Amino acid sequence: MKRREFSKSIALLGLGAQAGLVGNLGHAAENQESFYEEPVKKLPIRKFDVVVAGGGTAGIFAAMAAARQGAKTMLIETKGYCGGIAVEGGTAIHSFYNLYTAFENCTKRKVVQGIPAEFIDRLTEMGGATGYPEMETGLDYDSVCTAIDTELYKILAFRMLKDAGVFIAVNTLLAGAIVENSRIKGVITESRSGREAIMANSFIDSTGYGDLCAHANAEFNVLNDYDSCNSFGFANASIDDYYKFLKSNDALGHICRGPRSGEENKFVRMGAEQLNIPGFIDEAKKIGLSMVTTTVRDNYLMYVKCNFKVPGTVLDRDDIAQAEVEIRNRMAKAAELLKKYVPGFEKAFIARTSPSMLIRRGRQIVCDYDITHEDVIYGRHFDDDTFVYGFHDSAPQYQIKDGGTYGIPYRALCVKGIENLYAIGMMITSDLRAHMSTRNTVSCMGQGQASGTAAALCAKKKTGSRDLKYADLRRQLEKGKVYFEA
Ligand SMILES: Cc1cc2nc3c(=O)[nH]c(=O)nc-3n(C[C@H](O)[C@H](O)[C@H](O)COP(=O)(O)OP(=O)(O)OC[C@H]3O[C@@H](n4cnc5c(N)ncnc54)[C@H](O)[C@@H]3O)c2cc1C
Repeated sequence: MKRREFSKSIALLGLGAQAGLVGNLGHAAENQESFYEEPVKKLPIRKFDVVVAGGGTAGIFAAMAAARQGAKTMLIETKGYCGGIAVEGGTAIHSFYNLYTAFENCTKRKVVQGIPAEFIDRLTEMGGATGYPEMETGLDYDSVCTAIDTELYKILAFRMLKDAGVFIAVNTLLAGAIVENSRIKGVITESRSGREAIMANSFIDSTGYGDLCAHANAEFNVLNDYDSCNSFGFANASIDDYYKFLKSNDALGHICRGPRSGEENKFVRMGAEQLNIPGFIDEAKKIGLSMVTTTVRDNYLMYVKCNFKVPGTVLDRDDIAQAEVEIRNRMAKAAELLKKYVPGFEKAFIARTSPSMLIRRGRQIVCDYDITHEDVIYGRHFDDDTFVYGFHDSAPQYQIKDGGTYGIPYRALCVKGIENLYAIGMMITSDLRAHMSTRNTVSCMGQGQASGTAAALCAKKKTGSRDLKYADLRRQLEKGKVYFEA
């Protein structure tokens, strides 16, 4: 087996650390023939109750929930802001409601409430979100369209984390774990202040990639079953001209009207999957250009996405580097095509890109329970539900039965074999068809509130995640306004 293949097979087995050859993240520099042994260092120690690694879509809600329970909470985020893919790659935030528009006699319910809904309500008040306007077409896919302003979202995330009393460590990399037997004692961080050891009782991995789980030698799979992506904001564009053009070409897909730049009843979601302009469509397909987008601003498309399947894995530095170069070329081509062929975009320009490539799945972490596709589409509930969810991204092919919901059980967040670690966000659920539901934004947010609440309760009693009584967790989740079906 070649060196490169060898390092990838280690990642697949989750055995990097045990092998002791390539570092516990399971990737190695190519052609690495010799090794340098790092000198042992004494690191300064900080102590917390709860550590949340990754301040993205799920992580900020985990940190807020833990801190609101009174836990001394640290949030570790490698970038200079929080919000993750919700502010970097998304389109609409799916979904706070059940799919009530697709089924007769189905009651409309806001099925995810709690801190995520409080966040969107505050963002809407700031003019940074549409709230929950009903879709005009595409009613068998989602019932409402929650679109956001990426920059106001980042600002509000900081405000609410601060208000909750979270210690925010941005520009800080989670770089290691201190594990004794099957319990995490602490994590190692790296920032411009140097390396530090952060000790705590409970830990949450919300890095998307599963970095903390890998450092802690948890079991994981690398499934490589999605395209990766970058997305850009397209400014100086006329949304109304774009809409007219789509309409005259009979190319309107999913449409929603809502508040835009302070005015009601404007287009905030536009899908144009059937835009068959000769010269444009073949080139657009080649670069993986997605023609579904949202906005909450006049003259600005919040997200234009270019997809690309990374030929190796999204865990290999060199494969990622090649993909970053390719995707940025695709974004330049996308802007060129839109300006040339689509009225409304003649003078548009790229105003924002994501700082790095976005993944739909990195490591899939093995947890005590693996949510199945049947659980999702048959709307199953469990005796340890932490919240309920009702959206599937493959709808209308797969919808949750009768426009209902399924439960996210507590067990699905507990990392197998580790006493005090939760995995949340895109890392849970192995079945791709089930993951097409659990990975969506609002599900990740709900998992955040659930895990943060649980982690704080465990920290209070200095116990591991499996010692927590469900009744205690449920009581606190209900106090935190989490919605349950019964
Ligand atoms: C291109 C794209 C478009 C999508 N569109 C939609 C959509 O329209 N609607 C929808 O509902 N869902 C959509 N999704 C799915 C959804 O947005 C994601 O699944 C979800 O946001 C993932 O949240 P997360 O918290 O797991 O990860 P993230 O939001 O990526 O958060 C992970 C955070 O951890 C940080 N981090 C990573 N490693 C480290 C480390 N070692 N140390 C410190 N910090 C670290 C990252 O910087 C990041 O902030 C989309 C996903 C993608 C990729």
